[in-house]
Amino acid sequence: MQGESGGGVGGGSIDMIVIMQPSATEQQVEHVKQLIKEMGLSPHPIVGTELTVVAVVGDDRKKDRDAMEQAPGVDRVMRVLQPYKMAARAAQPERTIVRLNDLCSVGGDQVAVIAGPCSVENEAQIMDAARKVKAAGANALRGGAFKPRTNPYSFQGLGEDGLKMLAAARDETGLAVVTEVLTPSEVDLVSSYADCLQIGTRNAQNFKLLEACGRQPKPVMFKRGMAMTVDEFLQAAEYILANGNPNVILCERGIRTFEKYVRNTLPLAVVPELHHRSHLPVVVDPSQGTGHARLVPDMCRAAVACGADGLLIEVHPDPEHAMTDGAQSLTPEALETTIASLRRVAAAVDRTCG
Ligand code: PEP
Ligand code: MN
Repeated sequence: MQGESGGGVGGGSIDMIVIMQPSATEQQVEHVKQLIKEMGLSPHPIVGTELTVVAVVGDDRKKDRDAMEQAPGVDRVMRVLQPYKMAARAAQPERTIVRLNDLCSVGGDQVAVIAGPCSVENEAQIMDAARKVKAAGANALRGGAFKPRTNPYSFQGLGEDGLKMLAAARDETGLAVVTEVLTPSEVDLVSSYADCLQIGTRNAQNFKLLEACGRQPKPVMFKRGMAMTVDEFLQAAEYILANGNPNVILCERGIRTFEKYVRNTLPLAVVPELHHRSHLPVVVDPSQGTGHARLVPDMCRAAVACGADGLLIEVHPDPEHAMTDGAQSLTPEALETTIASLRRVAAAVDRTCG
């Protein structure tokens, strides 16, 4: 095969390739070249013995390239350029380290343990949980004040009162607070109390929320949607980055599959895959990822072994009486034993933990 312009396609990135049908005529190839030029991109036909392909050079992502498939003689179009830019590894060779506070950064040598209850239930519960997760070796505190509940009659969280309790727990323990924000209108409120805003799986494609989190200064723990591809996940993360916030942590929390022995299926291969594609740190949430406390410690170890930069772990001082997600919550004692073993796993992959 030989390119028309002497074998190369000139400067610029190859955006996509249009594959013509073997029966395509010269006029049809000309028509495709014309369409590409109309988009402000440059066509580079490569004529082979069986068929012709047209490489498209340029970078204007606002155009709908797939529409080219409508042109006569076109077999299919293949995208080459990744649809995300700022999240891509190519944009930044070194890994991003997101700092939550003096005690906790995500993405460096130390694997961060972010632990705490699913929900803030009352002041005594969150203070007790904060003290105990800190004593067990955690680096930051999680806890939901605004809860995204599947059922409208379930406990919805304490709202701003819960944020105040989290802030009090931080004041005493020094642990950074990671807590979820549900709507764009509450971003400033949550941001004024939290050290890191969590965007939950159910909101992973709420683009207005992603934009609003991109426009505020606190780091974002961005959870993958439960039915989201890796490509979609990184494009959604791009919304936060493109709105001015570089401090995005990607969080895998399990996806929806046919499998029922777990609440969600936790696909750990996504950790090295995300590291391959992106410079952003990757955290694993084995609590939502399995739904059962008995599975959590092993999945924590597996996550550290495959390169996770942090773990988001639900821990409750009294899981049997938890208001939300008791079945998947570790006791503080179980967290302590888990962290002890995580330190050994981390050492095996040249990191520290907790
Ligand atoms: C949670 O962390 O408690 C939670 C609601 O997570 P997710 O959005 O992953 O379901
Ligand atoms: Mn939960």
